[in-house]
Amino acid sequence: MAAFKHRLIGAGFKAFSLTGLHRMMAPLTRGQGAILTFHRVQPWQERGFAPNRLLEITPDHLDAVLGHVKAQGYRIVPLDEIVPHLAARTRDPVVALTFDDGFRDNVVHALPVLERHAAPFTVFVTSGFADRTARLWWVELEAIVRRLPRLRFTLDGVPRTLPAETPADKDRSFAKLAGLMARRRPGEVDDLMAYLTDGIHPSPSAVVDDLCLSWDEIERLASHPLAAIGCHTATHANLALLDLDALDRELGDARQALEERLGRPVRHLAYPFGGPHAAGAREFAAAAAHGFAAAVTTRPGVLFPGHAARAMALPRISINGLWQDLGALDVLLSGAAFALWNPGRRLSPD
Ligand SMILES: [Zn+2]
Repeated sequence: MAAFKHRLIGAGFKAFSLTGLHRMMAPLTRGQGAILTFHRVQPWQERGFAPNRLLEITPDHLDAVLGHVKAQGYRIVPLDEIVPHLAARTRDPVVALTFDDGFRDNVVHALPVLERHAAPFTVFVTSGFADRTARLWWVELEAIVRRLPRLRFTLDGVPRTLPAETPADKDRSFAKLAGLMARRRPGEVDDLMAYLTDGIHPSPSAVVDDLCLSWDEIERLASHPLAAIGCHTATHANLALLDLDALDRELGDARQALEERLGRPVRHLAYPFGGPHAAGAREFAAAAAHGFAAAVTTRPGVLFPGHAARAMALPRISINGLWQDLGALDVLLSGAAFALWNPGRRLSPD
């Protein structure tokens, strides 16, 4: 199903590229620019089954993306400038760059490219990843599904088994489990992972230690003139599933930890998972109550002046590792696909 969906979307990109329809629509649908989402940046490594590949691009593709947006007339600005830019209804299009989760490869592989382009960027850090107490369960899950021929676990008291023999089995079972876990509370995710990892995997903290920036590294990054550090909550939980106190702690504790450690204000928030199932009106209100200047979702879209009044729910365009080509990026930046997929909602300039 997931593979089918990706093929379908890929076909959509191709249809736009072949017809040039998006270029005709762009003056109406492009808006004032976009916020781009990245996760991991690292050179290509063959690792067989790799469903998280959509969350990673190569440094060469990052270089190509930045060169391309500049060549298309976009100015790359700090995230902090986006809302004032929207409110001013300025016509020159801008792009802001955001990197979620706080992966070490952002410094090792992305930073040299960003420096070459003098491109400002924001890294959204989950404080629990820096503490080594939260888990990258989707990274662990990929390794488990790659390795095992079947997946046994108990859910809501019922023992279950998912097949993971063939590549198609693995795709389906990973998609099913990842979808399930993104909709479960942290304790339930831990329970599920305990069944799946039973004695076969390094500790969750070893995975995070291997892949995520430490506090010292985050401090060094924060002092870089192109970098800003944003908040990506304390544990990377699905906020919509938490009670109000826990929601408050996810935002407040993480922000406080970052500000104390970095000695500077943390003005922006990225909601974990970021879709409608994980961030809605209650979470937007909480972000505003915590005083964030802006907060970003993973709802896809380009930016219009009306978004200035919805600064706690800004859309983003994810640079997807499955389509590392500039044609797909052009279709997304044109806003045409969002206008057609959500007729009426995003075509209007606000
Ligand atoms: Zn994240």
